[in-house]
Amino acid sequence: MWWINKKDVLLDIASKTSNCIVYNKKSIEKSITKLKEIESIDRLFYAMKANFNPEILQIINEYGLGFECVSTGEIKHLYESIPNIDKKKIIYTPNFAARDDYIWAMSNQIMVTVDNLYPLIKWPEIFKNKEIMIRIDPGKGDGHHDHVITGGSFSKFGIPLSDVEQIIELSKKYNISIIGLHVHSGSGIKNISIWLDTAKKLLELSKLLNDVEIINLGGGIPIKEKLEEKEFDLCTFGKKLNNLKTSFKSIEMWFEPGRYIVGESGVITTHVTQTKQKDNYKYIGIDIGMNVLIRPALYGSYHEIVNLTKYNHKHTNQVSIVGPICESGDKLGENRAFPDTDEGDVILIANAGAYVSSMSSDYNLREKPKELII
Ligand SMILES: *Cc1c(COP(=O)(O)O)cnc(C)c1O
Repeated sequence: MWWINKKDVLLDIASKTSNCIVYNKKSIEKSITKLKEIESIDRLFYAMKANFNPEILQIINEYGLGFECVSTGEIKHLYESIPNIDKKKIIYTPNFAARDDYIWAMSNQIMVTVDNLYPLIKWPEIFKNKEIMIRIDPGKGDGHHDHVITGGSFSKFGIPLSDVEQIIELSKKYNISIIGLHVHSGSGIKNISIWLDTAKKLLELSKLLNDVEIINLGGGIPIKEKLEEKEFDLCTFGKKLNNLKTSFKSIEMWFEPGRYIVGESGVITTHVTQTKQKDNYKYIGIDIGMNVLIRPALYGSYHEIVNLTKYNHKHTNQVSIVGPICESGDKLGENRAFPDTDEGDVILIANAGAYVSSMSSDYNLREKPKELII
């Protein structure tokens, strides 16, 4: 992880700021380069809900990626952040959005992915004689937590395979070209065979729909969470995708990762506010909480947390690292081995590039951290 070699720079930043999210440009560039090395991926879109910092959007744009947006607000933010952006680089993947949002996107020539029969049955005039993509629920999802699994009947996303026939009928009736099949089965999918099964399903399905030119396999490529963990084998993943693709040469394969591109690039730097011991439980309080990093409370996510000031000291304590928010769930890490820690020590929280700033809130009216790119 890049921040280990940038310890002194980060300590210097922390000495001048209270709370900060520091992004490493090279880390973003490295992730993009790795993805681009996979031959069978024809186009890459960045899922901007992961992080919509304008400078980050600009870096990603310079690498030629498109953008996947889940709301009209995201599209408008993109227009502001990258004023001359080509609309062909934007795809819109709404879920249970209002009718007006579809009207706005279609009339702005944005490629829309429809993920329910309802809009096609109730509002066909919006899509008549136009091109769309549809989001398929392959029937099986996966991910790092139940809340991020987006396939299967209990998930609110996607059109089940059993509705595909009806989709074909509707598309004929209203002259709608379904040019792409989309799937996003979850976030942090480590099992390569799940990816391949999904890709196979979509490729097979594409044979039933005359206009399909694209399959979009969504996001969900995992990053390394713990320091000692092995990295996701993107190379093997790529090779297997390449093999699969050889028999479907006329179909374009798209991906729209968020976390993989920016997740590792960001770290939070903050300070120790107070410490506490209750019976055998030791608490280390820091100056940010679930207002900045909600993922541990929301999904039980693991983020590496280190005392940067005392990085090489012996980890002789078992502690919980907690924030200042008035909620019992405001715990950022539990049962962590930690050195003896003092007020003012700099604490670093890793993997804060994705779903941290974009999910942060004004809860308890604490100031949001500054964001900086190095
Ligand atoms: C969130 C999302 C993504 C990105 O997921 P990651 O796990 O960040 O890669 C891609 N596509 C859709 C439709 C999404 O909702």
